[in-house]
Amino acid sequence: MNRTHTCGELTAKAVGKTVCLQGWVSTTRDHGGVLFADLRDRYGLTQVLFHPDKLFFSEAEKLRREDCIQIVGTVAERPAGMKNEKLPTGAVEVHTTQLLVFSKSEVPPLEVDDRIAAHDDTRLKYRYLDLRRPVMQRHLAIRHTAAHAMRNYLSSKQFLEIETPFLIKSTPEGARDYVVPSRVNPGKFYALPQSPQLYKQILMCSGMDRYFQLARCLRDEDLRADRQPEHTQIDLEMSFVEPEDVFEIVEGLITAIWKETIGHDVPVPFQRLRHADAMDRYGTDKPDTRYELFLHDVSSIVKEADFSVFKDVIKSGGMVKCIVCPQDLPRKDIDAYILFCQNNGAKGMAWMRYKAGAFESNIAKFFSADIQKKLAAAIQPPDGSIVMFIADKPRMANQVLDKLRQDLAKKLCLYDPRSFQFCWITDFPLFEWNEEEEKWDPAHHPFCMPNAEDIKHLETDPGKVSCTQYDLTLNGWELGSGSIRIHRADIQERVMNVIGLTKAELDAKFGFLLEAFKYGAPPHGGIGIGFDRVVTLLLGLDDIREVIAFPKNKAAQCPMDGSPSDIPEKAYKELQIKSVAGKK
Ligand code: ASP
Repeated sequence: MNRTHTCGELTAKAVGKTVCLQGWVSTTRDHGGVLFADLRDRYGLTQVLFHPDKLFFSEAEKLRREDCIQIVGTVAERPAGMKNEKLPTGAVEVHTTQLLVFSKSEVPPLEVDDRIAAHDDTRLKYRYLDLRRPVMQRHLAIRHTAAHAMRNYLSSKQFLEIETPFLIKSTPEGARDYVVPSRVNPGKFYALPQSPQLYKQILMCSGMDRYFQLARCLRDEDLRADRQPEHTQIDLEMSFVEPEDVFEIVEGLITAIWKETIGHDVPVPFQRLRHADAMDRYGTDKPDTRYELFLHDVSSIVKEADFSVFKDVIKSGGMVKCIVCPQDLPRKDIDAYILFCQNNGAKGMAWMRYKAGAFESNIAKFFSADIQKKLAAAIQPPDGSIVMFIADKPRMANQVLDKLRQDLAKKLCLYDPRSFQFCWITDFPLFEWNEEEEKWDPAHHPFCMPNAEDIKHLETDPGKVSCTQYDLTLNGWELGSGSIRIHRADIQERVMNVIGLTKAELDAKFGFLLEAFKYGAPPHGGIGIGFDRVVTLLLGLDDIREVIAFPKNKAAQCPMDGSPSDIPEKAYKELQIKSVAGKK
């Protein structure tokens, strides 16, 4: 290799040395005959200088942005007043004695410049140019460091890294499967893993004791900023454990990753919240716990009031919940929040101002002095605050108030955006009622062990059964989900029955897991932590595509390679499949 230094390396100490640099031309400037260029690679920028007396000067004059070149030259101190304190190499420049152009660049369709962001699809179509931007190089380097920290930490705790197959039988994680037709088994399909869930459980049955994998998970679902068709999980599983053991390992893991990537000390243990309390106080199972701004269920107080809007909702099984905006808001802001709530699904938003010990607003007259007193005692509104009420079905009331809470906190600057607040949410319900299909669905996946004291309610009152599921949240994002698993075939069958699977369906779908449970399955548990989210959040970003080298766009397409794309006619024949989407 000819390269003696990277473009981020040369300082005043190197003055006088002959060096060879390789990289991309970032900018060129003609200073009265002398030509300057900034040469860029992954490590930084170095200023290089071409004198007109050199034979290759005419070639240097033709250099353009993104040409890939090599130069040899002598390191010189920059003249006084020309130094750039902000650049690690800003004290020096290289006076070139040789130039080699590896390859010329056409005019780049996007600027390789951190300050200029191109349109999303342009960035994805020319991802190699987008990834040349220093900010993207940093993101991928941090991602690497996070993976490295994870491997070191888990290896030091006796975990084995084991790969599980990509072509599998479906594993349910609540999304649609991507499927792959099998040519040698005509008419049969593999599923791509939504997660390695069943395989990691079977690895525990295989005596592997502690497993981890940086696992690619593929789910065919609608895309959002925090979702991609494929994402990466730190997937781990442990035998003979209770939730506390998993918490300890994960807290150590997160601490190691945050320390090694951004030098941040994460305090442990993490906060804990039972699922029911999270829903009650925050209206969501992934609360942003950087600020309080709690929700209050005031149904039992306001049901006595003469206000029919509240009364009717409560009578029909709904609830009235409120949030206290700790400071006064002008009328136009309150109106904007009414619209905000309606846009998020609420029928409306009632509000009252609390001033000098009394509530004011056009609905205050419906609340007697006694009710107002009880309300004030329950929610403790500061003087001059605005109380915002949502009356609706619990799911909708919570959903809207969660959004409102987040928006208010942002508007009122109630938290430090650079802080990290981790929280464990525990004791999730095992099932949730699917109103459309009128049946019970697993709230997470059907392999979570019910809490021992609730097993007796499995058949009689499934909605009452809580389970060992725990989620890890960070600043309002779900970072990971896990549980202690069912390791007994009889309990697994009972859970499957509740979600409506017959014995025959159960055998067809998960028979292999139940079979494995017959031969001495150890109690086990684990977690899957969204690795893309980890890297996104530790960098203070909010879009996982910023930390994935080749993500898909919002239509699940890759503008760079053009996937998904047609396959040759012959492939349909070989696979013995037909397409109804205009193909044979
Ligand atoms: N397989 C689960 C998921 O992908 C994680 C787990 O339960 O370990 O959410």
